[in-house]
Amino acid sequence: VAPPSTPVLEHRFSDELAELAVPWQAEAVPDPRLLVLNEPLAAELGLDADALRGDDGVRFLVGNEVPAGAAPVAQAYAGHQFGGFVPRLGDGRALLLGELSDSAGRLRDLHLKGSGRNPFARGGDGLAAVGPMLREYVVSEAMHALGVPTTRSLAVVATGRPVRREGVLPGAVLTRVAASHLRVGSFQYARATGDLDLLRRLTEHAAQRHHPTAAEADNPALALFDAVVAAQASLVARWMLVGFVHGVMNTDNMTISGETIDYGPCAFMEAFDPATVFSSIDEGGRYSYGNQPVAAEWNLARLAEALLPLIHEDQEQAVALAVEALGAFRLRYSAAWSAGMRAKLGLPEGFDDAVATELVGDLFPLLQEGRVDHTGFFRALGIAARGDLEPVRGLFLDLAGFDAWALRWRAAGPDAVAMDRVNPVYVPRNHLVEESLDAATAGDLAPLQRLLEAVTFPFDERPGLERYAAAAPDDFGSYRTFCGT
Ligand code: AMP
Ligand code: MG
Ligand code: MG
Repeated sequence: VAPPSTPVLEHRFSDELAELAVPWQAEAVPDPRLLVLNEPLAAELGLDADALRGDDGVRFLVGNEVPAGAAPVAQAYAGHQFGGFVPRLGDGRALLLGELSDSAGRLRDLHLKGSGRNPFARGGDGLAAVGPMLREYVVSEAMHALGVPTTRSLAVVATGRPVRREGVLPGAVLTRVAASHLRVGSFQYARATGDLDLLRRLTEHAAQRHHPTAAEADNPALALFDAVVAAQASLVARWMLVGFVHGVMNTDNMTISGETIDYGPCAFMEAFDPATVFSSIDEGGRYSYGNQPVAAEWNLARLAEALLPLIHEDQEQAVALAVEALGAFRLRYSAAWSAGMRAKLGLPEGFDDAVATELVGDLFPLLQEGRVDHTGFFRALGIAARGDLEPVRGLFLDLAGFDAWALRWRAAGPDAVAMDRVNPVYVPRNHLVEESLDAATAGDLAPLQRLLEAVTFPFDERPGLERYAAAAPDDFGSYRTFCGT
């Protein structure tokens, strides 16, 4: 007997935190058509892929077939957007369908994006277009394959409903899977209500779900904060190591679980430059590549502020404890990033720390000056570790500068095999993402499927996929991305 296409969904979030949940239904989808289904993820969730492809399955994936006992809700949250506090944001075009236990026994959220207007929609239409939902699908699945904690994408279904943006676009719903959708902004919302019991229940719920040792600690709020600091320090270090620019690190887009969330304006950096910004609205470079650790730390300070009443009854002492805990971010981030860089350079176990720090420090000015492709450089360095320096040298203009650095690096005895396990060949290149989304919007899913094949096995170089490993051609120009599309 095949498992049912409509699984049993729990509703722990709305049971325990009703103040943060507005019961709601997805808008009826006139003509649902499955564009892409993530079969490995379906299996992980104990869902039958064939059943999901059927009529009822597709209706389930857009929230039009709600399993018995499920109770979809729109979630309330607040957030600092580019530094300005918005007390009521919430799921303007999204719904939490419910939670399900995956094959490893972990609770996962099933969530819809583009499911219609709800009480948080404000001026928005509650909808999403095919292109941006497929973009989230391909980039989030690439991130997962790169080993970066992230929300996942189960499916994208075209709705048959037109969406008005700059012009009219085909609409879609993304079915997203996450450890949870609790954000820094969830805590800011709870804190702003002034209801300390709600804040306490939210803290307990988040700790139980993501950082269970914090739930048992003497000071659960402080322990939860410590755990989120650690998870985000590690996450942002991983972003930096793969050249990922999130693009909209508002506090509503920072999870408590430590998963990457919100793939609106993100992109992978090609030419190395800390000032890299892709988002059309990030005029000040607040969320530039190089500023991401600072932005994360700032967001964590906002989380600490929200938790202060629970950290200590004396607010001066609470602040002192929170400041001390936040201080761990820089140490943890630096440790994670340095360890990651050592691995990317293939430096052997036990290699001298001071020499490693110098090697790493001397590399970045060369990369920046030469506008060297980030992903291509590290992969080509693996070829250099095998003795052929020409591919990597070909990326530099200052050959003497690079040669001097490379001589020192090779003296370390880099491990090429280990390097190939951490330096991807394939990331979702901006020009290829755009090409595949344009084709999909026009009805041709083949380029998207080929891109997915490349980026979901990013470390294994395969013949025939050369164009997926190459930087954008010069005529692609500078890349711009958009939020809320
Ligand atoms: P983001 O910048 O993607 O994190 O979105 C910020 C807020 O805008 C969230 O509360 C979203 O739910 C909301 N939002 C974005 N696009 C729409 C839309 N088309 N309709 C309603 N709400 C939206
Ligand atoms: Mg968001
Ligand atoms: Mg967004």
